[in-house]
Amino acid sequence: MESLFCKSNEEIASILNLEKPFQAKIIYQNLIRGVFDFNAMTSLPKALRERLSAERGSALSSKVIRKEEAQSTIKLAVELADGDIIECVRLSDGENRHTACLSSQVGCAMGCAFCKTGTMGLVRNLTTGEIIEQFAHLSALGERISHIVFMGMGEALANFTSAMDAIKELHREDGFGISYRKMTISTCGLVPGIRKLTELDIPVRLAVSLVSADDETRSSIMRINKAHPLHELKNALISFQRHQDRRITLEYCMLGDVNTSHRNAEELAQFCKGLDALVNLIPWNPVPELGFKAPEENEIKAFENDLKKLRISYTIRRSKGQSISGACGQLATETKREK
Ligand code: SF4
Repeated sequence: MESLFCKSNEEIASILNLEKPFQAKIIYQNLIRGVFDFNAMTSLPKALRERLSAERGSALSSKVIRKEEAQSTIKLAVELADGDIIECVRLSDGENRHTACLSSQVGCAMGCAFCKTGTMGLVRNLTTGEIIEQFAHLSALGERISHIVFMGMGEALANFTSAMDAIKELHREDGFGISYRKMTISTCGLVPGIRKLTELDIPVRLAVSLVSADDETRSSIMRINKAHPLHELKNALISFQRHQDRRITLEYCMLGDVNTSHRNAEELAQFCKGLDALVNLIPWNPVPELGFKAPEENEIKAFENDLKKLRISYTIRRSKGQSISGACGQLATETKREK
């Protein structure tokens, strides 16, 4: 079953065999409001509601099969029309700001050693509609979501066209209306994708999962670094920044005894030179089978002190949602479809 998102009214009318194209607009507006049950779309004629409900069940192609909640985080497992399962998360801060964390692929081909999704391999890319439906499910939880991050399962820049089409659709004024500046694409450092994003000239934010500013260490943890080492990544970021004039976030997943030394801080400072970057420290969330350890509290403090002395702008993210595997790098395998 095809998603109705990212379709023109004519396309929706054709998919649903509607006699009157304006009915497509009514259905789209209901989807935006979180009404997915055709029977509840009361501005449609009753006979049409009943037919659509009998033919399709729901107006979405995907359905939520599990909801887990911890602290201010809600994680949804979403089953797609073909039975594949993905995850998406709503994160809320204390100031009533809600952020949707969306997946762009089922699994991921990048194989970063610290990431649970990386252990799945790539199953397939998500369609534009499947990406947007995650947002629709999260919005239907009831709070207005103002921010979106592509930090769920998958490397968004490796599913470039669908991710960009989803971004444009999520921005649509008569749709969800999310500002481009409140959307962040996260990448492990896929340089050709960063270059394509630069050319596209859509003012979204960019976050790069850096993890190490030393080529040898980074290559041992992130395969992408062998194909696109740090100097190439930095050049791509410099040109992104020249073009977009936008601060970049460097996600620095702190792995105990791996990337938290004084030397590592100096390498990071060196990488930041010439970039307007904010380093986001993320103490690693333990995933038992991955063979790393979370940094000790004193290790984190010492690294923070090093960054202060080196005048690096940084924040530290204490991940919410660890208890529901909804924290960074923890979305994955238990939800893979049984084949
Ligand atoms: S960190 Fe991102 S790019 Fe790397 S394996 Fe995990 S999901 Fe893929």
